[in-house]
Amino acid sequence: MHDQLAQAYGPQHWWPAKTAFEVILGAYLTQNTAWKAVERSLANLRAAGALTPKGLRAISVETLQDLIRPSGFITRKALALKAFLAMLDTEFAGSLRRMAAAPTAQLRHRLLALPGVGNETADAILLYALGHPVPVADEYLRRIAERHQLLTPAQPRIRYESLTELTRSAFAADPPAGHVRLFNEFHALTVAVGKAHCRRTAHCEGCPLAGDLQLATGYARQPCPRSGKLNP
Ligand code: SF4
Repeated sequence: MHDQLAQAYGPQHWWPAKTAFEVILGAYLTQNTAWKAVERSLANLRAAGALTPKGLRAISVETLQDLIRPSGFITRKALALKAFLAMLDTEFAGSLRRMAAAPTAQLRHRLLALPGVGNETADAILLYALGHPVPVADEYLRRIAERHQLLTPAQPRIRYESLTELTRSAFAADPPAGHVRLFNEFHALTVAVGKAHCRRTAHCEGCPLAGDLQLATGYARQPCPRSGKLNP
């Protein structure tokens, strides 16, 4: 899937940010929010000089809430960002470089203990801001995995860990030194195909993974869930 999507879409250049700290802010702000709204919040933060630890430290929670208003959930997100900053200052002397040097499992555990940080946010921070080799899973990957029958869920919704393990095992034969790059690109590519095709209702016609779906499910004998036509 990675190769098919890479061929179709090319390099994705993720994460869309200039600094690691901006990645972290974006990872919090994008929760339950479209990226366009996050961009408006980041622009506000940039204009206020708050896109750095020093800048964010200097503004009050109330000011932060105002600046991130386009992203919604401002009370929860502002407190969560301040909590991250407090942890960075207290435990890593305010240095993302020092934080990134900690072992992956320890960092993941620490991030998940912070308010407003779930699996996806923790892994996005680890991978895209701190350069640790962890896969990121999301709703798009869950849909793809379900529709391509990559996992047989015991429950109605596939667990997050099952999806990240699936990604990990798919790249297990690749040299570990390349995992950060591969996990980075694969997540970005699944988001790209998710937005373009694998939405709440699948738009399989023209999807770069349509051939894979045929192989995986015998889909050629079944109609496209959207159009009712047989897949080409
Ligand atoms: S082929 Fe269909 S089910 Fe598979 S990723 Fe594309 S849109 Fe989703």
